[in-house]
Amino acid sequence: MIKFPSTGRRRFLQAAGAAAALSSIAPTAALGFTEQKNAQAPGYFRFMLGKFEITMLSDGLNQTPFRYSASNVPEDELRSYLKALHQPLDARVSHLNVTLINTGEKLVLIDCGSGDNFREGTGKLTESLEGAGYAPEDVDHIVITHGHPDHIWGIIDDFAEEPRFANASYTMSTGEWDYWTAKDLETRMPEGFRFFATGAHRNLLPVAERTTRIKPGAEIMPGLQTLASPGHTLDHMSVLAHSQGESLLIVGDAITHPYISLEHPEWQPQMDMDKTVAVKTRKRLVDMAATDRLIVAAYHIPFPGVGHIAPKGSSYQWVPLTWRWEL
Ligand SMILES: [Zn+2]
Repeated sequence: MIKFPSTGRRRFLQAAGAAAALSSIAPTAALGFTEQKNAQAPGYFRFMLGKFEITMLSDGLNQTPFRYSASNVPEDELRSYLKALHQPLDARVSHLNVTLINTGEKLVLIDCGSGDNFREGTGKLTESLEGAGYAPEDVDHIVITHGHPDHIWGIIDDFAEEPRFANASYTMSTGEWDYWTAKDLETRMPEGFRFFATGAHRNLLPVAERTTRIKPGAEIMPGLQTLASPGHTLDHMSVLAHSQGESLLIVGDAITHPYISLEHPEWQPQMDMDKTVAVKTRKRLVDMAATDRLIVAAYHIPFPGVGHIAPKGSSYQWVPLTWRWEL
């Protein structure tokens, strides 16, 4: 429906009558209003990695307290750092970017979004996937980086009460699987995070028989290799995709912030479970990506969340990949 923010009902009726009289040949601007579309472009971004076609899919936006960006620095310091970068200070706006790899033979998702019941603004993966020309049934395989809600709650379609990706098999690290499916997990989770446990059980247990548990480092299929990146969660893993001499490092949540993770990798996000290990992992991956000139896909960096990591003084900076018409 068209909205007329500062126009009374009478003027609306006059405008509507005039619009009907002038039919579709009149530009709406001539009537004193221009229809606003109130919708964003489809949530996908595509590029080639050698012969692999990569599509970044948006699962939406999540908001967390801004303090979660770095819990070990004084609040004033964090506030002035983010303010200088024009970042919001009322909340950390965190994108959810799911990587889809079409190898030419298989369609592989890395993580599978938040599903229908996580938070407002999330759960858009199916819509983005369909916008990009695929149906959930087309997905052959799903690699899970870790067991947090925004990465696994999309496994089960809560309306249909069955797996959303009907033909997919899964890979998850053994440590991560064991942690998130443990019977007593809920009692071990901190107050306020117990719903992580119930959600993990609801989504993981129904696909137990379809899930291969591995030690990070194992190959998933030709051109797709896992690597250990613990700290954010205890057995978190990342994925390295290779094709024809090009490489994409899909870091999951080992790198979460476009500025802080690269300029201050020692600043500790609240959600990192083992903060000391997470700092080591982050430094290692950032260094590796910059040195080997890898393309990096990061789940929570602003959409589409793909870019390079380049040196900047004694630290690093994020350089987003450029959108282009031709692949
Ligand atoms: Zn996450």
